[in-house]
Amino acid sequence: MLIVMKSTSKETEVQQVMDLIVDMGLTPLPVPGSLRTAICITGNKGTVDEGRFLQLNGVKEVIRVTKPYKLVSREVKAEDTVIEIGDVKIGGDNPVQIIAGPCSVESEEQTVEVASALKEMGISLFRAGAFKPRTNPYDFQGFGKEGLTILSHVREKTGMKVVSEVIDTESVSIVYDHVDILQVGTRSMQNFSLLKKLSKLDKPIMLKRGMSASFEEWMNAAEYVMMGGNHQVILCERGLRTFSQHSRNTLDLSVVPLVKSVSHLPIIVDPSHGVGRRDSVRPMARASVACGAHALLIEAHTHPEKAYSDKAQTIDMEALKAIMRDVDVLGELEQIVV
Ligand code: PEP
Ligand code: MN
Repeated sequence: MLIVMKSTSKETEVQQVMDLIVDMGLTPLPVPGSLRTAICITGNKGTVDEGRFLQLNGVKEVIRVTKPYKLVSREVKAEDTVIEIGDVKIGGDNPVQIIAGPCSVESEEQTVEVASALKEMGISLFRAGAFKPRTNPYDFQGFGKEGLTILSHVREKTGMKVVSEVIDTESVSIVYDHVDILQVGTRSMQNFSLLKKLSKLDKPIMLKRGMSASFEEWMNAAEYVMMGGNHQVILCERGLRTFSQHSRNTLDLSVVPLVKSVSHLPIIVDPSHGVGRRDSVRPMARASVACGAHALLIEAHTHPEKAYSDKAQTIDMEALKAIMRDVDVLGELEQIVV
């Protein structure tokens, strides 16, 4: 249930609502938003008597939320959430952002070289994994803390904002200081203790869709992060495991408009992991933007053939420039069509 306050409501009136929710043995979750003040009620097993709230001063209306996930849903927050990372904005009507970089941090030299090339191209968001969750235990596992120190140097030297993965609860505090966005990988989407820990942070979380996760499971995973108080969630579609053999995963672009209608959270697409082969990254990047993605996550390297991980899907700087041109053209088209 959602209690919507009048625009003229006072802080004491909001507090009264919160107190009543607690008195009823339930949990109040304030919903941030510029358009209205609202408080979501969770923890109820049955129906809650809405009359008790409607008689309080400052209460405008009480809305029953039909979805199993609340804070994620547009029923609770109608306006688009825009995530601000410094002066970069992801979500709403803001221009499509490109988050690019190698799959892994490989060395200081490689990381600075790739980041500098990206910066020169006008990209502000750099991605690279220091902790790598690999399917095969014999594969390169990432440089861990050492890799994070390198990412901090990249941040200092280039001024770029950095995205890197957290693979478990222990890595959260280690990664936190070195990055601007914490990535939850496909294999961790339902690591609920990790999600709960991330829910207490004041930095954005990029939540990749589990490779076999339904839409509802994904939204519920986002709800775990939001219900602990962290409302800065970016959803990322990265492809599903299907019976198709021609690509690493099957990129489910049909989920993009669905996310946008059901949720106010930004939705971005990772065509690199979605297809697993570099010749398909550009067409699927175009398709992602055409269907409404707020940003693209792309694996790019100055020497893709030397990449330590995900070489087959990593594109070079020229290919990335072509995608950037596509994104610009699609951005203009959208303005003409709308
Ligand atoms: C990655 O971004 O390098 C990664 C491991 O992604 P995913 O979790 O989607 O496989
Ligand atoms: Mn990768």
